[in-house]
Amino acid sequence: MHPVPKSSKLAGVCYDIRGPVLEKARRMEEDGQHIIKLNIGNIAAFGLEPPDEIVQDMIRNLPDAAGYTDSKGLFAPRKAVVHYSQQKRIAGVTVDDVYLGNGASELITLSMNALLNNGDEVLIPAPDYPLWTASVALSGGTPVHYICDEQSDWMPDLADMAAKITERTRAIVVINPNNPTGALYPVEILQGIVELARRHQLIVVADEIYDKTVYDGNVHTSIASLADDVLFLTLNGLSKNYRSCGYRAGWMIVSGARAHARDYIEGLNMLASMRLCANTPGQLAIQTALGGYQSIDDLVAPGGRLCRQRDLAHKLLSEIPGVSVVKPKAALYMFPRLDPKLYPIADDQQFAYELLAEQKVLIVQGTGFNWPNPDHFRVVFLPNSDDLTEAIGRIARFLDNYRAR
Ligand code: PLP
Repeated sequence: MHPVPKSSKLAGVCYDIRGPVLEKARRMEEDGQHIIKLNIGNIAAFGLEPPDEIVQDMIRNLPDAAGYTDSKGLFAPRKAVVHYSQQKRIAGVTVDDVYLGNGASELITLSMNALLNNGDEVLIPAPDYPLWTASVALSGGTPVHYICDEQSDWMPDLADMAAKITERTRAIVVINPNNPTGALYPVEILQGIVELARRHQLIVVADEIYDKTVYDGNVHTSIASLADDVLFLTLNGLSKNYRSCGYRAGWMIVSGARAHARDYIEGLNMLASMRLCANTPGQLAIQTALGGYQSIDDLVAPGGRLCRQRDLAHKLLSEIPGVSVVKPKAALYMFPRLDPKLYPIADDQQFAYELLAEQKVLIVQGTGFNWPNPDHFRVVFLPNSDDLTEAIGRIARFLDNYRAR
């Protein structure tokens, strides 16, 4: 048989969060080694179980959830998402504007596939959650990265964003709260983005999957609440705020200037039909989650487990010579910087390999988030305080040795 090559469509596609370093970690685990994982936002795996109400309703609904549903999803959970959009002050959303998906991930690729012609450009933050860059590339589009500025707490650099808009730009992706930086954007920044979108007739695509995972009494603003004359897609789901990523329950809201987007919406509907529907048990969990007790509030409150772990991870990382970290206002991640004078890293994937091999700690290298330089890495602060202390202690030892090389 001839060799079977992968599609050339995959040439620009990469997803390093589950890349070769993780493969090496798997092999080490198969050999019986214990690895501390700071690599992935899989919340339930760290003893942070989903609300019991969701699990119980899932079990109860299962016998009646064996059928396909409407391709955009069941009415009741979509209605629950409409109510949620009202709480978020996104105007004029009806059940028709809501698409349910197998996690936000499916809707991210679907939204880009329905939008892009070959060579169309999409503005994406650097650093980003890499599924965005990968989905744009897979759809034939060209990802164009705008810089988020570490000096100003990882805010999007609006001047850089404006400078990168061309005739071919179709959309601006906004990840707020941000993975991997933990930034939470103030209204003025969001207004600046809306203004650019308005001026250049661009779609704003907002990934707000961490919108309730917000610390220090901060409040999240949905960018779609700021205008009705720009087309917005807002993506969210149960994976993070409700600690149930395995249930694969996500949604997308189309709002704002829909009247100008009939053709695109037809495309979205077509792709939603082609995948038949999102898994029905996951859809049925949405109502319970959105309507029930919001236990995430207890985890992010001062003294709550996630807040404590954020504070601890930030303190311990900041104490390492040559490491600086912006304290996250939201989400589950930090994106520390390694001073290149102390750590002259040429290849940060190799750096992640070496850390894994020497200290059995798994992180993801910064370039995996489309960060242009090999001088950052991402950690999740989901492990409990003892494990975090142990893991960051090992990172500190690894870096001590690195400096002494
Ligand atoms: N968007 C962001 C910013 C994420 O960090 C993640 C997962 O880590 C996703 C989307 C994927 O979400 P889902 O589990 O709903 O597919």
